[in-house]
Amino acid sequence: MARIIDGKMISTIIKDECKEKAAALKKQGREVCLAVIQVGSDPASSVYVNNKKKACAYIGINSLSYELEEKTTQEELIELIAKLNERKDVNGILVQLPLPKHIDENAVIKAIDPKKDVDGFHPQSVGALCIGQPGFVSCTPAGIIELLKRSDVDICGKRCVIIGRSNIVGKPMALLMLRENATVTIAHSKTDDLREVCKRADILIVAMGKPKFIDASYVKEGAVVIDVGIHRNENNKLCGDVEFESVSKQASAITPVPGGVGPMTIAMLMKNCVDSIELQ
Ligand code: NAP
Repeated sequence: MARIIDGKMISTIIKDECKEKAAALKKQGREVCLAVIQVGSDPASSVYVNNKKKACAYIGINSLSYELEEKTTQEELIELIAKLNERKDVNGILVQLPLPKHIDENAVIKAIDPKKDVDGFHPQSVGALCIGQPGFVSCTPAGIIELLKRSDVDICGKRCVIIGRSNIVGKPMALLMLRENATVTIAHSKTDDLREVCKRADILIVAMGKPKFIDASYVKEGAVVIDVGIHRNENNKLCGDVEFESVSKQASAITPVPGGVGPMTIAMLMKNCVDSIELQ
């Protein structure tokens, strides 16, 4: 039976480290402040935004909340971002995605000052990651690296297969694993013989958005399996992209859903906010 990689516990440790750092900065008269912008009232987005505000309160980060109407124009949103870019007391700017259809997400992300891009989605942040320069890293993949390191999983020289090539998970994940000296393969919907590709992995990272798709037949005996997917199953319970019951018998270590990758995303956002003071 695989060892469980406990994201809840590790994320709490990271949040407590951030709390200490925020308190030390406060003593020097430097307060950390995150501006969170939500456009419209999508219930899932409201839950995410509230969780981020709660995490800020726990850590001692000031949060400014902007709840804009669904009909807000792209120009109005970019104008607000420009004002926040100028404000010396604002360290991080986060625009909750997805945005309403009439707004171009790429244009909005590009409007954020890269020094305040705590989500790590700005092209400059992605480019910096690609060429190994300092910058913000997308929170979910950065959280997975922390999970692996803090669970003593050896990455250097290992064969890592990542299923998924999205801009927010798969691609930055591949760059981070490369930075850690893994030998990286990215699989996607056009990959030939996915099962055979996955079977070669020492570390298998699954971010495909397909509930319980990966069963034990995709996993090498003793592999480490990281499940990024989040879904609600027919009983309204959370599940991942990995069929936990069978894969946990084949793997040496595995992240559960819930309680694996999920809690790490907010913890890494908090870390980016606290670290932003040094970048600025
Ligand atoms: P996405 O943008 O939908 O990307 C999915 C990727 O999986 C695509 O690259 C797609 O390939 C690939 N894929 C889909 N079906 C496949 C198949 N049958 N075989 C091989 N590859 C396949 O998703 P995402 O935003 O990266 O998110 C992935 C999952 O992680 C979702 O369940 C999401 O909810 C979850 N997530 C969780 C967190 C967290 O905090 N835990 C954060 C972000 C996302 P193509 O490129 O060829 O289409």
